[in-house]
Amino acid sequence: MRVWKVGIIGGGPGGLTTAYSLQKIADRPFHVTLFEASDRLGGKILTPQFSKASSRYEAGAAEFYGYSQFDDDPLRELIAELGLPVTQMEGCAVIMNNRVLSNLDDVRDHLGLEAFAAVTAFDRRARDHMTPEEFYQSDYPEGSTRQPDRRRFDSMLDAIDNDDARQYIEAMIHSDLATEPKQTSVDYGVQNYVMNHPAYMSLYSIEGGNERLPRELVARIDADILRDCPVRSVCKLEDDRLRIASRHHGEDRQDDFDFVVIALPHNQVNSVAFEGDRLAEAIRTHHDYFNYPAHYLRVTILFDEPFWRRTLTDSFWMLDRMGGCCLYDESSRDLESTHGVLGWLLGGSNAEEMSHLDDERLIQEALDSLPDFLADGRERFVEGRVHRWIGAVNAMPGGMVPLSQDRRHQPEPTEHANLYMVGDYLYDSTLNGVLDSANYVAAWIAGRMNNNGKDLV
Ligand SMILES: Cc1cc2nc3c(=O)[nH]c(=O)nc-3n(C[C@H](O)[C@H](O)[C@H](O)COP(=O)(O)OP(=O)(O)OC[C@H]3O[C@@H](n4cnc5c(N)ncnc54)[C@H](O)[C@@H]3O)c2cc1C
Repeated sequence: MRVWKVGIIGGGPGGLTTAYSLQKIADRPFHVTLFEASDRLGGKILTPQFSKASSRYEAGAAEFYGYSQFDDDPLRELIAELGLPVTQMEGCAVIMNNRVLSNLDDVRDHLGLEAFAAVTAFDRRARDHMTPEEFYQSDYPEGSTRQPDRRRFDSMLDAIDNDDARQYIEAMIHSDLATEPKQTSVDYGVQNYVMNHPAYMSLYSIEGGNERLPRELVARIDADILRDCPVRSVCKLEDDRLRIASRHHGEDRQDDFDFVVIALPHNQVNSVAFEGDRLAEAIRTHHDYFNYPAHYLRVTILFDEPFWRRTLTDSFWMLDRMGGCCLYDESSRDLESTHGVLGWLLGGSNAEEMSHLDDERLIQEALDSLPDFLADGRERFVEGRVHRWIGAVNAMPGGMVPLSQDRRHQPEPTEHANLYMVGDYLYDSTLNGVLDSANYVAAWIAGRMNNNGKDLV
């Protein structure tokens, strides 16, 4: 019986889940070769340790978004299937003007009645704009009667008639957005606001570090996994198969495949040359459609103890410093940690501008940004780490107007129907999105293997 050959480019969550999903659903013989440019698998899920203590922290994706209260939650199901225990994460406070605002009562008491009325009005507008069910379905335009809102998100924020209220809302969402309100849509801006509400989603992380997810996937995938193997180019052969040219441990190699999956983030799609005018043009169009780069910067600091727990006990807080950032108690998810770890997640233009500073300066800026009531904790500094993620996520994932699922995943359906894209930028810039994308493509390829390589009509 024919053994189908599948090439997957990228060993991040997208590539790994495509291989895993294909393995679960395909009922024809096939063989996967997975190409990873670096020497590690897992992409932007990365859980390193400090050198001066064994404390872990999340340097990339910090949390998983849970939707099981609504309907299917493929990511939660995958994590359960892999036997990975999870910890719920809680956080709803904004630290503004050196005060912790944990709820609307605090907003009224500290920012006044006008600010309270403006925040309440915005909250109502946002929730009217998108119900929890619409939020859950927002990446699936097929069958939806909801028209995409083409306005930019700053138009909605401009309608807030109180400066403190606006500052409070911006601080709350800036690090999730990873961009500026004028560079994203009303829909994506509202999604990033309502996700703070428990009716819309829950948050959790994996005990022992989020990187356990890619590790468990790698342990279960039956494939040739080529690390240190950047892909240089993809081209079509006369018999319609696709050729991947790569460089493995310094040696050039070429491999031919029946199906190829490009599981690269948007900002790395151009690291591969797509040969032939028609394919090159299709990939250019695809790239341009989703070309809304957004930025993150993480500064993570090890302290000799979690001094903030005298006043702050959640897993994270939003902080009105450095353009509005998220401050994680990284040590709250590591029960074995003997130290305290705080992580600052900066987003958008602040992240991009500050990424040019050296690590030492960034660590100092983070320490300086601690609110006054925590300032004495600076003395407890042990070690700092910086991770720059410029252009690594999307300001308007899915594009201004969502495309059909097929269109998102197959950039050139006529002459390169066996070449697929997988990515979070096709959905919502999250791990849930990249898994949906991987499952969609895996099911498509499995169906075609069953049908002698052709699409079912
Ligand atoms: C700071 C930060 C925080 C985040 N927080 C969250 C969060 O809390 N929750 C959430 O759901 N999502 C979060 N995300 C997004 C999440 O990390 C992504 O959705 C996910 O990593 C996308 O997976 P991917 O496989 O598409 O890309 P990546 O994880 O980027 O993996 C791509 C892989 O392809 C490899 N590669 C690149 N070029 C080539 C080439 N030419 N040949 C071969 N291999 C190549 C790379 O080395 C990499 O290993 C965050 C992202 C960042 C940057």
